[in-house]
Amino acid sequence: MQFIDPHVHMVSRTTDDYEAMSAAGIVALIEPAFWLGQPRTAVGSFRDYFSTLVGWERFRSSQFGIRHYCTIGLNSKEANNEPLAEAVMDLLPLFASKEGVVAIGEIGYDDQTEAEDKYFRQQIDLAKELDLPILIHTPHRDKKNGTYRSMDVLEEHGCDPTKVIIDHCNEETAQEVLDRGYWTAFTIYPGTKMGNERMVDLMKHYGPERIIVDSSADWGISDPLSVPKTAALMFQRGISEADVRKVTYQNALTAYSQSGQMREEHWLDAPEIDRSQLFSGNSVLRNGRKTERTDNVVEN
Ligand SMILES: [Zn+2]
Repeated sequence: MQFIDPHVHMVSRTTDDYEAMSAAGIVALIEPAFWLGQPRTAVGSFRDYFSTLVGWERFRSSQFGIRHYCTIGLNSKEANNEPLAEAVMDLLPLFASKEGVVAIGEIGYDDQTEAEDKYFRQQIDLAKELDLPILIHTPHRDKKNGTYRSMDVLEEHGCDPTKVIIDHCNEETAQEVLDRGYWTAFTIYPGTKMGNERMVDLMKHYGPERIIVDSSADWGISDPLSVPKTAALMFQRGISEADVRKVTYQNALTAYSQSGQMREEHWLDAPEIDRSQLFSGNSVLRNGRKTERTDNVVEN
């Protein structure tokens, strides 16, 4: 079975993760622009990060047979540094128009401050201007209000809910998000928040329409195999293959292909992996010699 992980921060992950994801059936992934665990202090850090998302990381992923897409945006946490946020806003149109960018995101609220609200609204307008889908990060604190407020603002701006993915939903917010017509995404964190047993219960309750499962794996404790593992548990609990496919593959593809940047042929007709390929003169190989990973071999 093939899977898409539509929310995973690969710049924080290793080549072992890429190998395990590929072996588990992940054929495509989406890497949303987010914060890096500590605040950036200069606009150049954002420029280089965005450039990595559309450049080196996209290449690195291809070297493990996984098609890489990304979203571009100013995250809500760093929107609170207003002088920096202004400079980042100027960068966004350039990067959002690059190949492989499937949405503006992840944007929304963190502490629900005035500055967050300001840059959230500006980025909604940018998405509309570029005719791109929007990926919403809902806050971990005061989630219900933050989620409802995000949808209120999107509706105030006349956004089509079928072009918006609301992520980090839970049992408290899912019904309202579905009722208002949005793609409703769930992040499966190991041991905390949305465990995968809870996801199975949600699937049994809501069915597969407009539901999306992702790992949101990053620099924290997280699992880049959350999507295939949740699928396996769904099968064990008697959910049909067609329904599992919708929430772990098809719905994400339908939602993000509205960008015009993501198509199934990209991985179905992918060329053979060639690890001698270079990106800006660099490859994933060491010393340009080995084409496969060698375990337990010390190289000089
Ligand atoms: Zn994220």
